[in-house]
Amino acid sequence: NPFLVGVTGGIGSGKSTLCRYLAELGCELFEADVVAKELQLDDSEVISGIKKLFGENVYGKDPEGNLFLDRRMIAGVVFSDREKLDALNRLVHPKVFNAFDRALERARSNGSRLLVKEAAILFESGSSTALDFVVVVASGMEERVARAVAKGLGSREEIFRRIGSQWPQEKLMEMADYVVCNNGSLEELRLKAVALYRYLLSLAERDS
Ligand code: ATP
Repeated sequence: NPFLVGVTGGIGSGKSTLCRYLAELGCELFEADVVAKELQLDDSEVISGIKKLFGENVYGKDPEGNLFLDRRMIAGVVFSDREKLDALNRLVHPKVFNAFDRALERARSNGSRLLVKEAAILFESGSSTALDFVVVVASGMEERVARAVAKGLGSREEIFRRIGSQWPQEKLMEMADYVVCNNGSLEELRLKAVALYRYLLSLAERDS
């Protein structure tokens, strides 16, 4: 069985970047948030559920004619409507879990030693309990906001509000088995990924 590693962190912490480095080093990577986004665009059950919750207008077509989901609008609605957030999660999460099970099967048959699951709400969704080891990526508030704004996730005010609705970074750090402080350059983050990868491999050996 592969050793199962979770990676999480708040908006703009750098978790996707860390995971990309881990994948380059040889980890199998399952990106829960990417899978969730794909389901929202190509799973008919999810699409009709989202339309019921948020109205037909949340979907549109981009200039190339591809289906487009107004995630910024959804983020705005669920921020002040807990019920809708829960309903959205009930619609999408079970399918993400199934997709992870399939990724695990693939990793098993490939003989992979490390499978990394990246998710923004790893602890909140309860999925951390099924993993062997959880890594939290942490960063200063100012950097996180600036990165999220640069990524086009919303205005400074929107990002601050979303950070305020997530579990505090300190709480994630307390629950983590390992914390990566992303407070330097991208090159420093890559070096931290190398150190983490070696450590994970040693844990995986010990486990097997
Ligand atoms: P989100 O929750 O928004 O998906 P995330 O935690 O996955 O965010 P990333 O997507 O990894 O964060 O990083 C956000 C942006 O910040 C990316 O464009 C990334 O290249 C950049 N970034 C991350 N860490 C650093 C760093 N140490 N120095 C410079 N840029 C960085």
